[in-house]
Amino acid sequence: MREYNDYLKEKLIENGIKPTYQRIVILDYLEKNQIHPTVDDIYNYLYPKMTTLSKTTVYNAIKTFVKAGIVSEVNIDNSELRYDIMTKSHGHFKCNKCGKIYNFDIENDINSSDLEGFKIESQNLFINGICKDCLREENE
Ligand SMILES: [Zn+2]
Ligand SMILES: [Zn+2]
Repeated sequence: MREYNDYLKEKLIENGIKPTYQRIVILDYLEKNQIHPTVDDIYNYLYPKMTTLSKTTVYNAIKTFVKAGIVSEVNIDNSELRYDIMTKSHGHFKCNKCGKIYNFDIENDINSSDLEGFKIESQNLFINGICKDCLREENE
């Protein structure tokens, strides 16, 4: 456990962020819950365990993480802004039934002849559908 906490602390320091207790707790939540939470999700989960926490603190910590590049903003369905600890290029699949957002690997950059001569700086692949778990339930 101690080693894991050191890892969180070092990750913050390496990225030029002062490792306050609250930031470590928020980063820990993001590492363990890769569900693309909103600020509200994070706050609602942590508040009962840490009643000194304010929504502004969560919001500011997240903004700091985004600026340092350890968390990315995901705007999946133009509703609320969600946050993703996985910063390498990956796609998102949103289940229309349970609302879960899954990550999936993108092997290569999207390669289309229509984009020849363009420089891609970020790519956002988003797919909608019904996830495996929901399909299984439907078929039972
Ligand atoms: Zn589902
Ligand atoms: Zn993601």
